[in-house]
Amino acid sequence: MPAAEPNTRLPTKRLCIKRRRHGIFQLVAIEEVIELLEQEYGRRDWEQEGEPVDVLIRTILSQNTSDRNSGGAFDSLKASFDNWEAVASAPVECIAQAIESGGLFRIKAVRIKQLLQQIEEEQGHINLDSLKSQTMTEAEGYLMHLPGVGYKTARCVLLFSLGKPSLPVDTHIFRVAKRLGLIDSRASIGKAHVLLQTQVPPSRAYQFHVHMIEHGRQICRARQPYCSRCLLRVACPNLLY
Ligand code: SF4
Repeated sequence: MPAAEPNTRLPTKRLCIKRRRHGIFQLVAIEEVIELLEQEYGRRDWEQEGEPVDVLIRTILSQNTSDRNSGGAFDSLKASFDNWEAVASAPVECIAQAIESGGLFRIKAVRIKQLLQQIEEEQGHINLDSLKSQTMTEAEGYLMHLPGVGYKTARCVLLFSLGKPSLPVDTHIFRVAKRLGLIDSRASIGKAHVLLQTQVPPSRAYQFHVHMIEHGRQICRARQPYCSRCLLRVACPNLLY
């Protein structure tokens, strides 16, 4: 059996260093990252994760806590009230009680109530279906004018509920993208959203998001990344171990 041919499509570590010395910012092509991640983790097709308001509230609840805690808080909130209108008109303490398994529950309760009230005031009901017919930029702009909604939350709604090719950047994506040199190591989270959105082809936004998180959780961890097992190591300018 012939020996496997080395992967010659990616730049070597030496080439990456050389490129860095010459001030070339992007050290590895994003298309190569997308391709390699697909080989490693398999193809991922988009599936709707819920109505826009549901995804919005679920994302607010996911801030600064685990998926398990926020999932429990969301289920409890839905079970405690008949609909979003009832949440909007409920005392903050009742909302806080329903979501207390989700961490920072008092702050989140205030935020959720404000959000729902504002949507009701502006849309005439608590429903964001009108965003479906808007462009991605318009819908993102609307979501981001709501209290407590930043890039990541707005884009989660656009991507997971509305199926728009929007790219939310979470802590894993932010870290891995910096280590790979896809974005400047000094870039802010806001800048990272802009830079990655322009680099990732729209048809690949969903899969890139899911794969980068998977890679960040499993291999390119915040502490002691498993560089020796990393499929991107030949291209990574920040190979650590
Ligand atoms: S080689 Fe290491 S630092 Fe680079 S992407 Fe892989 S795990 Fe992360």
